[in-house]
Amino acid sequence: MTSEATQSVTASPARNSGAGSDEAILSVRGLETHFFTDEGIVRAVDGVDIELQPGTTMGIVGESGCGKSITAKSILQIVEAPGRIVAGEIVYNPKPGESSETDILSLGSNSDAMRSIRGGEVSMIFQEPMTSFSTMHTFGNQIDEALRLHTNLSKQERFDLAVDWLARVGIPNPVQRMHEYPFRFSGGQLQRAMIAMAMCTNPRVLIADEPTTALDVTTQAQILDLLQRMQEENDMAVLFITHDLGVISEIADDVTVMYLGKVVESGPVFSFFDDPMHPYSRALLTSIPSMFTSSRERLPSISGSIPHPQNRPSGCAFHPRCQSFMEGTCDVREPELVSVNEEQEVSCFLYEER
Ligand code: SF4
Repeated sequence: MTSEATQSVTASPARNSGAGSDEAILSVRGLETHFFTDEGIVRAVDGVDIELQPGTTMGIVGESGCGKSITAKSILQIVEAPGRIVAGEIVYNPKPGESSETDILSLGSNSDAMRSIRGGEVSMIFQEPMTSFSTMHTFGNQIDEALRLHTNLSKQERFDLAVDWLARVGIPNPVQRMHEYPFRFSGGQLQRAMIAMAMCTNPRVLIADEPTTALDVTTQAQILDLLQRMQEENDMAVLFITHDLGVISEIADDVTVMYLGKVVESGPVFSFFDDPMHPYSRALLTSIPSMFTSSRERLPSISGSIPHPQNRPSGCAFHPRCQSFMEGTCDVREPELVSVNEEQEVSCFLYEER
């Protein structure tokens, strides 16, 4: 583990009216995932802490390449080579009365215990449904395999449950679709089929990586509604990754903003929208249209682009793009994530005095 301070993020049940118990289902502590390439080491996730409580949703936002998806994949130990988790722990807490807490990273990525957690207790909806299904098997075969691995249901019960889930996510003719191959599904249908597959095992934690990107707004609203109902029924914790701040405002209890593998701000969703503190958070929010934006008005954009992780700027990684840059400070030292009030944490020298 590096000496750099880890970033702390908590989806707090105290801020969510429908929240469950205080005990975290999943605690990620000091997670570091690096990619060992011929050109050097890329620190894709660089010391992130996450606590997920039952019945809460944490939204993770940030531009592409900031480490959101790699954080999610690290939790399930499905980071592809040359990536490797090099430090941290990921503690999963089973239901009260079941076996004791488990450090997921102590399990082999292909062990039976890990397979039981992955797709059963902790499910994931992937960003790219087109490449996430096997083209060689029917959808029915694939969802049946998930149910066979994670439930004790009979073959007929598994079939009926899969059909029920296809219907719940709005796929017409679900019985017929069970016998079809994924190439027969449209992009939106594949996305919904993936949601059905992730939810059918009744997970306690759902990681949703851009789950509604390929969907039209009506279907998106239906899917978000479905996820929220599932969450209420099962006290499920959700880690929701998206670029869409409109979706975040709808579904999240807490928001985490990531930039170049680090958390730069975290706090309750209303604080993020009412009083964003980090200059990057403010820039993200000013670059989305509001109800008062006229149709021809140019939206402000964040200057520059996210640097390549191998060319990480000195000091604060956001300093080449920051409107509040302070020469001699921001380009020299790296700010730590600190509490600025009871609920918000931010890593920026503007708040150092607090
Ligand atoms: Fe901007 Fe400096 Fe704050 Fe970084 S530390 S966000 S460069 S003001």
